Amino acid sequence: LSDRLSGILSGLTRRGSLTEEDVNAALREVRRALLEADVALEVVRSFTDKVRERAVGAEVLKSVTPGQQVIKIVNDVLIETLGGEGEGINFDAVPPVPVLMVGLQGSGKTTSTAKIAKRLTERHKKKVLMASLDTRRPAAMEQLAILGSQVGVQTLPIVAGQSAVQIARRAVEAARLGGFDVVMLDTAGRVTLDDTLMAEVAEVKAATSPHEVLLVADALTGQDAVNTARAFDARVGLTGIVLTRMDGDSRGGAALSMRAVTGKPIKLVGIGEKVDELDEFHPSRVANRILGMGDIVSLVEKAAQTIDAEQAQATAQRMAKGQFDLSDMRAQLQQMEKMGGIGGVMGMLPGMKQAQSQLANAGVGDKMFKSMIAAIDSMTPAERKNPDLLKNSRKKRIAAGSGTTAEQINKLLKMHRGMADAMKMMSKQKGGMLGKLGSM
Ligand code: GDP
Ligand code: MG
Repeated sequence: LSDRLSGILSGLTRRGSLTEEDVNAALREVRRALLEADVALEVVRSFTDKVRERAVGAEVLKSVTPGQQVIKIVNDVLIETLGGEGEGINFDAVPPVPVLMVGLQGSGKTTSTAKIAKRLTERHKKKVLMASLDTRRPAAMEQLAILGSQVGVQTLPIVAGQSAVQIARRAVEAARLGGFDVVMLDTAGRVTLDDTLMAEVAEVKAATSPHEVLLVADALTGQDAVNTARAFDARVGLTGIVLTRMDGDSRGGAALSMRAVTGKPIKLVGIGEKVDELDEFHPSRVANRILGMGDIVSLVEKAAQTIDAEQAQATAQRMAKGQFDLSDMRAQLQQMEKMGGIGGVMGMLPGMKQAQSQLANAGVGDKMFKSMIAAIDSMTPAERKNPDLLKNSRKKRIAAGSGTTAEQINKLLKMHRGMADAMKMMSKQKGGMLGKLGSM
């Protein structure tokens, strides 16, 4: 795999835009890498389509090959698709907050229930009650009770002969009476998906209105994970995913598949059998794992660094000439985001103070960078070059395409005008900061 990907990363450097041919050549190998990582076929297709859309026509910068440029885009789209970092359990509700754990048998539900309970107790100072609703395997309730005493979390006393729904109701009631913050419900699983399992889980959900419904899934199951995730989401509705056995030799394909199919965040990952072997989800690490460790990753990173440096230089040169279109603004926004927000880069460039206050005046917080970048991504190259083209109908299209509002687009354009004006003024001050940057 590494050899094949390296193949497309070498080759001649070239300036100009990425052609469909460049992109397809690189994507052939990327598709193979994804399939080897056990990413579901349908996800591979939609993923490569997304990369193609972003890549064809993108500019190839000096000193990187077209293949490297495509891989950089692949890496970016992969991280975006894998989604947010460090999304924890949400307990923004009236306590006791019910958390329902679902999934196939052996996926790691019981272990993960105890791991999460331990974390909530220790790090978040929550009072947690755990209850096993697994009425089929006699040892299952014992297993949770043992884990409970091991991690110092209370478990609901076992009463023989109750149904899963009865136990769930009793657990919520006990948590309410006992002043617990969170009540974790560990359900029974089946080896395969079946209707009885789904019906039972759905019934428990209806009876307890859980705030979180977490699918526990084994990272080693690869392709099957997609069917499991889709079935649980359709039948009970998921709020997030806990991916277990990430300590195994999985390539992380299941993470991408499940996230892409359900759109639900991967909240935590299991990295071993022990009760503290639970970790936050790091999209960039998983992206590395999917594309292949080692040389490929460092090649991609090197390419990315080169691209970043060149982008910064190209923008600086254009700015020095008083040119500043929406693509330049996008580059700036991305740079700012990377370097820790508005205070970061702009504060370091003396000439940028003006633009910085423009941003602040426009009410732009660091959180808005992402949606502004998304809006610029939804524009055509012509629109980015010439913002005057953006009449109402186009604004509507862009807002719809990027999940923003027409008002946000107007703000963005206003800000761009302000920044472009500031650039123009500064470029006239010969020998200024920007002039120096431009001649670098
Ligand atoms: P359940 O049937 O879904 O409740 O699954 P269990 O919680 O009983 O776990 C099944 C097996 O998987 C146990 O042997 C666990 O120790 C093991 N297990 C769970 N999570 C992980 C993990 O993240 N990594 C590894 N290596 N093993 C795990
Ligand atoms: Mg279990």
